[in-house]
Amino acid sequence: MNDRVIAVTGAGGFIGGALTAELVARGHRVRALDCKPIDEWHRLEPEAENVVADLRRLEACHQAVAGVSEVYNLAADMGGMGFIEANRALCMLSVLINTHMLEASREAGVERFFFSSSACVYAAHRQASPDVTALAEDDAYPAMPEDGYGWEKLFSERMCRHFREDFGLETRVARYHNVYGPHGTWTGGREKAPAAICRKVATAVLTGEDEIEVWGDGRQTRSFTYLDDCVAGTLMIMGGDVVEPVNLGSSELVTIDDLIDVVADVAGAPVKRRYLLSAPQGVRGRNSDNAMIRRCFGWEPSTSLVEGLTHTYAWVHDQVAATLAGRPPQLGDPVGTSAR
Ligand code: NAD
Repeated sequence: MNDRVIAVTGAGGFIGGALTAELVARGHRVRALDCKPIDEWHRLEPEAENVVADLRRLEACHQAVAGVSEVYNLAADMGGMGFIEANRALCMLSVLINTHMLEASREAGVERFFFSSSACVYAAHRQASPDVTALAEDDAYPAMPEDGYGWEKLFSERMCRHFREDFGLETRVARYHNVYGPHGTWTGGREKAPAAICRKVATAVLTGEDEIEVWGDGRQTRSFTYLDDCVAGTLMIMGGDVVEPVNLGSSELVTIDDLIDVVADVAGAPVKRRYLLSAPQGVRGRNSDNAMIRRCFGWEPSTSLVEGLTHTYAWVHDQVAATLAGRPPQLGDPVGTSAR
């Protein structure tokens, strides 16, 4: 058991929950923080100090970092494209969390601070075609990120940089690319494409429908990063010497139609598609250039989409089945029973 406390914000969410579990498994003392009531946390790690706190408030951030050596700051008001396009102000307000967590960490003498940025910091004009050139870290400038959410992430990246340069707070930043896996948000409006497609296919399978609705024309391209790779890369970047933002994403580029093909194969259920061309679909194409993470860490995310979606579909299928049967979906699943 390590003596120093590590704080994880957004620990009631998808990635923060998995990160908390991994840190506890490695013998760390973890303070897990989120603003949601405990019974809504995606996963609950009983050995962590689980704290409900609204980290937009500076006072709550001071309490969050008391006695803490490292901070993983993942808390954010966010969701999939449907959510961030309709809630730009809410997304930007996460700047309060990042500002106050940085300020409190500096005052408390925190040794290292991690910030979860996003591929949404990259300029839209670089992502206008499905035949993408993968995005390298330098491509974030000149800046024209995703409106709202992307601006907030890029601004907070800069704040991390200047807190390091001006105040000596060691900061590390990863740009996550479309993370998916079991225990992710799969319904309610904040879910992202992989979970949404798994839910639609599972619903079709369980109700005998043969058609699903698809946002866009299915030809937009993306890469999707499995949760375990995201957690492993986060710990690596936090422990390393690279002070500039690093892409943390899979480089396995697929169309949304390819994604549906994989889920349909895993489910053993060919589904017809009804394309909703007016629905939010984000940029036309995006992939992660992994030259920097390979060069600096000799590693990159490697879980194949088939493998990741096999675990994810099984979990989402169970949630849909429980909901259709009138049972509450399993949110605070005890750690150790995940599909990891
Ligand atoms: P998530 O929504 O599951 O988790 C975020 C958590 O932050 C939520 O549980 C939420 O309740 C909490 N939160 C929001 N406001 C808060 C506040 N004021 N005080 C305390 N907690 C608050 O999201 P996630 O997918 O786990 O993402 C984690 C981080 O990674 C976020 O910063 C997100 O922007 C970033 N990110 C995620 C992805 C992805 O594909 N999931 C991609 C790029 C970046």
